[in-house]
Amino acid sequence: MTRTKTTSKTPKGGRARLILERMNTAMASHRHAEAARLFKEGQSCRAIPADGDLAEWLEKSLGTRGTRLLARAFAETPCFFCRNGRESCERCDGDGRLGDAMVCETCLGLGITRCAYCDGSGWVVLDYVPTVLALPVLTSRTNTAIDELKALVRQPIPEPARRNSKEALKRSGATLMTANSLLGVLENTVTAVKRFGDLPSEAQAHANKLVETSVRAATTAEQYVRKTLKRMATQARIMAESSAQDSVELAFATTSAVYYEKLVGSEDYSSTSLDHPFLRKAMSQYREGKKKKRNTSDGTVKGQGT
Ligand SMILES: [Zn+2]
Ligand SMILES: [Zn+2]
Repeated sequence: MTRTKTTSKTPKGGRARLILERMNTAMASHRHAEAARLFKEGQSCRAIPADGDLAEWLEKSLGTRGTRLLARAFAETPCFFCRNGRESCERCDGDGRLGDAMVCETCLGLGITRCAYCDGSGWVVLDYVPTVLALPVLTSRTNTAIDELKALVRQPIPEPARRNSKEALKRSGATLMTANSLLGVLENTVTAVKRFGDLPSEAQAHANKLVETSVRAATTAEQYVRKTLKRMATQARIMAESSAQDSVELAFATTSAVYYEKLVGSEDYSSTSLDHPFLRKAMSQYREGKKKKRNTSDGTVKGQGT
């Protein structure tokens, strides 16, 4: 098939075909963001119907497989405002410290914080995704994040090192930020399902399951986060031992160690980039629900869940 050039005179049907062709090529080559952008372009020039009339068009023009590929394209479109969910910390200008020896609590002294737009997930916000694809996109992102979290918590936390202790602390910090990004994906799942409101029963059951698996994975990840913070405290103590007396480095390493030790025991990590209030709330509701179930399940009929 020869390619035709788009002009303002290209008839609507021809333009739709052209956009579809380019979109299919992008999807087949895993150029996800490009495929999603072409789709949005198609919608804005009305070559592709608006969200309300989309379901039928998807079935007719893309079929089941094509629709699945399109959902994947949206699922894997990165956030427009950051790279991998991270950005330089504004409060400390990416330095990690305030003044000479104070740890910047926003970024935990790492100089990097999570992106406010995507909650650190690194993925484009769900508002960009056509409504009909929101649940498949959320499913794909959630399952991927859970798989990655499972793989991450199986990895040993970087060992404390006497040599290059600053680099070793950075390595632990990077691990922490990876876990934090994945927790951002799971927090987005929890808030998105709330925002969906009432769904048809099958979709609702599926969405509830997504929240439940997210919360379970987050509970496991939380232990890993605490262990990593503990390791960072140890590493900061080692850094202090190897710093010159009365130096700024010694003061900063000491305050860092004290700060990380305090964070290990923190309930909610409030005011830090580790705080995920909506996920935390869902986790405590889940724990409460389980407790209630245990208390009422002695011989009674199993509850239907929430
Ligand atoms: Zn900072
Ligand atoms: Zn972002």
